[in-house]
Amino acid sequence: MQWDQIFAKRASRMKASEIRELLKLLDQPDIISFAGGIPDPALFPAQAVAEATATAFAERGTTALQYSVSEGDARLRAWIAGQMAELGVPCGIENIIITSGSQQALDYLGKLLLSPGDTALVGWPTYLGALGAFNAYEPRYDKLDPDTNRDFNDYATAAQEAGGRVKFAYMSVDFANPTGRTMDRAARERMIDMADELDMALIEDAAYQSLRYDGEPIPPILALEIARKGSIDAARTIYCGSFSKTLAPGLRVGWVCAAKPVISQLVLMKQAADLHSSTLNQIVIDRVARDIFDDHVAKLRATYSARRDRMLAALEHHMPEGVSWTRPDGGMFIWLTLPEHMDGADLLARAVRDYRVAFVPGGAFYADGSGRNHLRLSFSLADDATIDTGIARLGELLRGAG
Ligand code: PMP
Repeated sequence: MQWDQIFAKRASRMKASEIRELLKLLDQPDIISFAGGIPDPALFPAQAVAEATATAFAERGTTALQYSVSEGDARLRAWIAGQMAELGVPCGIENIIITSGSQQALDYLGKLLLSPGDTALVGWPTYLGALGAFNAYEPRYDKLDPDTNRDFNDYATAAQEAGGRVKFAYMSVDFANPTGRTMDRAARERMIDMADELDMALIEDAAYQSLRYDGEPIPPILALEIARKGSIDAARTIYCGSFSKTLAPGLRVGWVCAAKPVISQLVLMKQAADLHSSTLNQIVIDRVARDIFDDHVAKLRATYSARRDRMLAALEHHMPEGVSWTRPDGGMFIWLTLPEHMDGADLLARAVRDYRVAFVPGGAFYADGSGRNHLRLSFSLADDATIDTGIARLGELLRGAG
């Protein structure tokens, strides 16, 4: 059977990434991998989750196993609304929908906002999973660069010439995946100006927001916009939050906080797609968040920031001339820039074969496949000795490649 004749056109935009194939090779004990950007399972609040599961049944009986509303658990949404208020986003539970991780929110937002040929503005580089989610809706991508002075109207003209319009800009704002960079306040304000001028939405991906190790927190774009416009219901910013990096990614609980018309439309979308996120998991996350959130996040910060420091020190020691890297204030990632002629994907093959060390090559994070002379390293999973040995191996590889 010729399945590709039967598949919808959008399916051709959904490809297994080159790196996923390479990363499958990494499950060998002698390879040191800085590739996976995932939380350290040793830090999961397993006991609190076990206790909360027992409490869920004690308090809510079999309703914990029943279908529930598409908006999500009201108690959990109330707790999230409290957290959002602390971030400068006063809102009610009607401004919040629970999603199955923020990844599902990205998929729904692509579905909600993009007609084929519309333009999505994304960073060069940007979160690979966002490109994956949006690709199914057949957008055109344009390069979002808040630090340059490109005329906002250029974006609109280019989008029109391509047969659509600019629908949104997507940004991973704090300690971004893959660069570790944080958008400063001026860049956030500029994004609001741009959104107003182009009459588009802003998708603010705050997946790493709680994992700040240094420096003062910067208000979310949504908070800055509410400060200008007076109410969340007047805001264009759609904030995507997640418990994956703070509590447990496997429970798949995230949320969207936005103006009511956006939330109402997302509720309809969720009804059609999966009815609701897991009832039990929402109850468990609610209980665990109320019991331990702040203390637990403080523990994560202490552990991850020490690993970041160790990796930065090892890079200082082992990297050859011509290699530079970011110094993130939080999150899980450091982004390396290599001399122009080097290719991260080629290097990965050699790194795994000859040096037993792995990373993610940068090209995967660019909508146009450029940026090949970059590498993403994650420090979230490694202990000190592993970081020292792995970065020493990477230094040897790069010296040999120079
Ligand atoms: N956004 C960013 C920037 C991420 O790095 C990730 C996960 N790696 C996600 C969203 C999706 O996370 P989740 O669906 O687990 O909330």
